[in-house]
Amino acid sequence: MSDNLSFSRGEVALYYGSRVPALKQSGAEWRGPCPIHKGDDKNFKVEPDSGRWYCHSQCGRGGDILALEMELSSTAFQDAKGAVYGIVGRPDDSRGLRGGKTGRGGGDGWRQVAEYVYQDEGGSSLFRVVRKERGDGASRKKLFFQSRWHGGGWQLKLLDTRRVPYRLPKLLARLSQLSRFEPAKAIRISQGMP
Ligand SMILES: [Zn+2]
Repeated sequence: MSDNLSFSRGEVALYYGSRVPALKQSGAEWRGPCPIHKGDDKNFKVEPDSGRWYCHSQCGRGGDILALEMELSSTAFQDAKGAVYGIVGRPDDSRGLRGGKTGRGGGDGWRQVAEYVYQDEGGSSLFRVVRKERGDGASRKKLFFQSRWHGGGWQLKLLDTRRVPYRLPKLLARLSQLSRFEPAKAIRISQGMP
């Protein structure tokens, strides 16, 4: 995998709670039937801290969250990333839009449709994700651009910028009540429900 996306423990719980809800705590890891080869035995292992998985049965391989999403949804990296972001509550169209639609057209045909600012616990800006689209209908393509807040402006590339979940202050308050892996509850939180 070429991605360097990292996910917080809370995001890892949200993702697997949604995608592989049959996982159960087993020592320091989560185990359950493999969702890729659709096994019956608990040969599928997940590291709660990193989200990395491994199937000890038929698949005999593992990877990170993006790799798993690409397997489960049979999509390429960019679409899988969008799906994972949606599941863990990072930017999507339906909520948390910050900055609004700009509709600005570019010479290359890409238009910026949304901007999402990620903040630390204290509400200070760390980085942002800008979503751009090109085309319409079935031919519509989308891309996400990341930049970090540095020196009073947005600089391309995150470098060693701390990665945090979207709406971290709010998410922290909600997830602090989760003391163990509780898929159903994590999903409700990700959907903004009590
Ligand atoms: Zn498997």
